[in-house]
Amino acid sequence: MPRKIERRSWAEPYKMKMVELLKMTTRPQRVKAMREAGYNTFLLNSEDVYIDLLTDSGTNAMSDMQWSAFMTGDESYSGSKSYFKMEKAIKQYYGYKYVVPTHQGRGAENLLSQILIKKGDIVPGNMYFTTTRLHQELAGGTFVDIIIDEAHDPLSEHPFKGNVDLNKLEAVVKKHGAAKIPYVCIATNVNMAGGQPISLDNLKQLRKYTQEHGIKIIHDMTRVAENAYFIQQREPGYANKSVKDIVLEICSLTDGATMSAKKDALVNIGGFLATNDDFVYEEARNLVVVYEGMTTYGGLAGRDMEAIAVGIKESVDDNHQAARVGQVEYLGQRMMEFGVPIVKPIGGHGIFVDAKAFLPHLSQDQFPAQTLASEIYMDSGVRTMERGIVSAGRKPNGEHYYPNLELVRFTIPRRVYTQAHMDVVAESTAMVFDRRKKIKGMKMVYEPKYLRFFQARFEKL
Ligand SMILES: *Cc1c(COP(=O)(O)O)cnc(C)c1O
Repeated sequence: MPRKIERRSWAEPYKMKMVELLKMTTRPQRVKAMREAGYNTFLLNSEDVYIDLLTDSGTNAMSDMQWSAFMTGDESYSGSKSYFKMEKAIKQYYGYKYVVPTHQGRGAENLLSQILIKKGDIVPGNMYFTTTRLHQELAGGTFVDIIIDEAHDPLSEHPFKGNVDLNKLEAVVKKHGAAKIPYVCIATNVNMAGGQPISLDNLKQLRKYTQEHGIKIIHDMTRVAENAYFIQQREPGYANKSVKDIVLEICSLTDGATMSAKKDALVNIGGFLATNDDFVYEEARNLVVVYEGMTTYGGLAGRDMEAIAVGIKESVDDNHQAARVGQVEYLGQRMMEFGVPIVKPIGGHGIFVDAKAFLPHLSQDQFPAQTLASEIYMDSGVRTMERGIVSAGRKPNGEHYYPNLELVRFTIPRRVYTQAHMDVVAESTAMVFDRRKKIKGMKMVYEPKYLRFFQARFEKL
């Protein structure tokens, strides 16, 4: 009997024109490399990595259209025509009024935090992000998490784990007063929750509430198109709307945005601050020349801005997102078939393995996610990263943050790897899972002051 097809597979809406050859390594080579890197996958040489799922940031494959635009970059110091193309794309696809380019997302976060946050301010947000929170803190603010409880529960199958709990926000407003809240920071497809979307219904309620209290919404729009795709797939009333239209609707409910173009926008470097506010725009134009560069390049080459302009357009294409999110879904399904505990629902930019459930015999002080990431690398050359206690860092008083989620992130670069690569990743994780009881934890032997996950070093216990 021929097998019956139950479902048509996702597949890429593109084909390959160029390939990059990879170095294949042996286990002894990888064990040595991992030890030399202090068991921190960030410190590995990428040459020693076979499948690199460290991040989806700046690791995207550009299209032929982007590369051809790249060649037309106008590298003038001021008034570059490439800037105007990027500005036009941002206005057209995101709808914001003013644009200030920055070298990447954190450049925009720095400008925005300095402009809007005063010492003693409170910045509520739907879960923290590493650089975002740090810039808020450096500007004198305190981040308060107002995401729904389900987001902290790797087992909850809530379809919109990026949603804000309005009761939590209300409690913050009551406690501190709206005047102490310069804005609410809303991330689309919340990175730290596992690439989980916020619904338009929730965002509309938030908009109503914040308008009543005179509070702005700033949009961390790094993965807005992926969020829009989930809204199209899951939110009642949006099945027939395009990703493009949903992206515009999301942006229209916010007052400004910081963007890391290295994610959604399909480039290798770049970012911007966008705003509808004359004051923020004026201040940002003043500050950008201090930290980034002229207002028409902000730390970017003209060719980067050309590639961003084309990448934004490609990113809001329905077929692109179906394949993008479809590939992540495929890897997640394979992991689940092997019994590997992952965060559900499967998110937009990667698979998040629950290291607490994977290595229940390790305490959080023994860095289970850091340990697991190093084991997977040694098994197969697949590079993942920690998103747990190491990433969470320390509180201003010096104690560790102990996040509920202790995850290993398998982030999928856009348009880079094939389905067979995904099979290798799932099979390797399954093999480590089979011998999980024998895996020992680690201790931290070097800890940098800021964003320690990038450079911390460990030793096996
Ligand atoms: C990557 C990222 C940032 C920071 O952007 P960079 O380009 O890395 O500086 C901010 N917020 C979120 C949600 C991100 O994923």
